[in-house]
Amino acid sequence: MLSNSLIELDRAHLVHPVASWRGHEASGARMLVKASGATVTDAEGKELLDGFAGLWCVNAGYGYESVVEAAAQQMRDLPYATGYFSLGSEPAARLAARLAEHAPGDLNHVYFTLGGSDAVDSTVRFARYYWHSKGQPQRDQFISVANGYHGSSTVGAGLTALPLFHAGFGMPLDWQHKISSHYAYRNPVGRDPQAIIDVSVAELRAKIAELGPERVAAFYVEPIQGSGGVLVPPKGWIAAMHAVCREHGILFVADEVITGFGRTGPIFACIEEGIVPDMMTTAKGLTSGYVPMGAVFLSDGVFNTIADGAGAAAVGHGYTYSAHPVSAAVGLAVLDLYEGGLFDNGIAMGQRLMAGLQSLADHPLVGDVRGRGMLAAVELVVDKDKKTPLPAAAAAATRVFDRAWQNGLVVRAFAQGVIGYAPPLCCSESEIDAIVARTRKVLDLTLDDPDVRAAM
Ligand code: PMP
Repeated sequence: MLSNSLIELDRAHLVHPVASWRGHEASGARMLVKASGATVTDAEGKELLDGFAGLWCVNAGYGYESVVEAAAQQMRDLPYATGYFSLGSEPAARLAARLAEHAPGDLNHVYFTLGGSDAVDSTVRFARYYWHSKGQPQRDQFISVANGYHGSSTVGAGLTALPLFHAGFGMPLDWQHKISSHYAYRNPVGRDPQAIIDVSVAELRAKIAELGPERVAAFYVEPIQGSGGVLVPPKGWIAAMHAVCREHGILFVADEVITGFGRTGPIFACIEEGIVPDMMTTAKGLTSGYVPMGAVFLSDGVFNTIADGAGAAAVGHGYTYSAHPVSAAVGLAVLDLYEGGLFDNGIAMGQRLMAGLQSLADHPLVGDVRGRGMLAAVELVVDKDKKTPLPAAAAAATRVFDRAWQNGLVVRAFAQGVIGYAPPLCCSESEIDAIVARTRKVLDLTLDDPDVRAAM
């Protein structure tokens, strides 16, 4: 009963992110009430394995008392401190220092935000300010990659290259440009890694030439494209794109909002790629989703150029909740968990997850299995040779999501018929095995879908 009245309140008043507003009115919400480890419980008492860690953010897992206690203690001591007026707080200073120690190369300066979208926005503002400071204010063009996702703010949604975030919003803005995605499974040049790298390098060079190298401010990549369907670039792709940017002094921004904090294995995916970006955005796993927080990492070069450019003047960019002490205290507690064994467990469980999902490749609907670490996807097709996607109705995220839910599993069901996985790093072997087994059940149920049958 309680749940029914809450569903009515939600239906009448709560606007849900990236939802069909009318569809949500019809379906209502599924209320979650509790969570522990990798398990979430709904209002009916149904327990489900969270194969997507909330929104690929609860990297540590749910229910850690040490995190709860860190937040509570910080709220008792000092629930808020602004960073304006050069004020500071202990957890913010400590977290920035610990993050800088973990970050690759000279990414020694940390600017805290509230999440990923405003982290991306901040990098755009910093990039512009950097080029002004260098006496090149004409560098005002930005390039990103098709299928990329860089947030839902007006600036970030334009760097995002997914039609859903553009249509009806007047996006992208005229200074935001794209090159094609590396998407190996559906790449016109096939799966050969070097061919994919060569095409992307040529496209990036051509785009820079078209815009004028002296006009390009920055290039944005996700080390693995998340919201585009978990698209993993070939080894060396990131380094090759980085090298092209270096040729022209273009700032290279790595968006690690999903890939950060052990999602793919190392604390940051850039480390595995062997590159040091000029700026790096993070969020999600930074606080493991317990409270909101994001962070922009700035290289010494970017930081010092902006600092010198501004001189005695303030750099006019700030949020009320930049470096929020409660979020920072949570960030420190979560880092303790990661360093205390969760990163290692995530690496072991990531291998098990990938092996388990690979074992589904024999299923008639599985066209592609891809991922790295605890970040993976299974792409469904009705014809493996032709790579024919599921018909639109059958691919509808709600059908796949519902089947998983009924079988005690939360996954991300992408509209194009891709199932996404990003389980908490705390998962046990049996939980990983259950994610795989329940997925097979979802695939079998999908195979029985009349729309799928009709298309096969
Ligand atoms: N960048 C990437 C790569 C993301 O995946 C996301 C969120 N999924 C964002 C930015 C935006 O982060 P937020 O939703 O916290 O604003």
